[in-house]
Amino acid sequence: VTGFSVLTAVTERLGIQLDAQALDRLARYRELLLDANSRFNLTRITDPDEIETRLFGESLALLTHVPPHATTLLDLGSGGGVPGLPLAIARPDLRVVLLDATAKKVAFLAETARELGLERVTALQGRAEEIGRNPQHRDHYDVVTARAVARLVTLVELALPLLVPGGVGLFPKGAGADEEVDEARYAVGMLGGRARPVISDAFTGTRLVAIDKRRPTPAAFPRRTGVPHKSPLLGPGHGAN
Ligand code: SAH
Repeated sequence: VTGFSVLTAVTERLGIQLDAQALDRLARYRELLLDANSRFNLTRITDPDEIETRLFGESLALLTHVPPHATTLLDLGSGGGVPGLPLAIARPDLRVVLLDATAKKVAFLAETARELGLERVTALQGRAEEIGRNPQHRDHYDVVTARAVARLVTLVELALPLLVPGGVGLFPKGAGADEEVDEARYAVGMLGGRARPVISDAFTGTRLVAIDKRRPTPAAFPRRTGVPHKSPLLGPGHGAN
């Protein structure tokens, strides 16, 4: 197993135990990611140490915000598997769906889950706008995560329909997190959610947006593919009519 010194520091600080199997799986996943990334673009982060700190560290930092009773998690726009795969590796008890619109990425995710022996992980190809209207997935997941997929105002329309009422959306964001939450406040309310105060993580340098789903999302959402991006649900004061 490769050292993972930073990761060990992150998990120790968070009070998370990663057993030998989890560390082996993370090391193998990093190899598979680097190898696939040399053939097609899965992540712009290509330095092994940066994969450890940025991709794995930031993913695992979400663990403390996954509710103890959670059994299902969907990672929306999973790409190369972040944060869904590190979370599935750390919590092999969870049923994890890795959703992405791109067939090539989904093929990589399915093959990686198989190779790592993660039996409760499923890779799913589709657009969140359509999956969010599918009764098998709507109002279903205890946790929905998404990293680097869309601005929050768009993201909440894609993610909140997939959450069970009582579930939580966890969205790592950068320095602009507060502005994004402010811009998304109207949409969050429309969709049946409520934003928690932004959570700062001094250690990983990330700002985490957590949104609780309080009520079922109205049937009108998500709107059809592309509309949440093109015409986000902006409220008064943000350019809405
Ligand atoms: N979460 C990964 C990938 C980010 S790139 C990471 O942090 O590295 C964004 C990914 O979201 C792309 O793979 C893209 O195919 C996917 N995506 C964007 N919009 C989507 C949608 N509406 N439904 C499903 N996947 C989407």
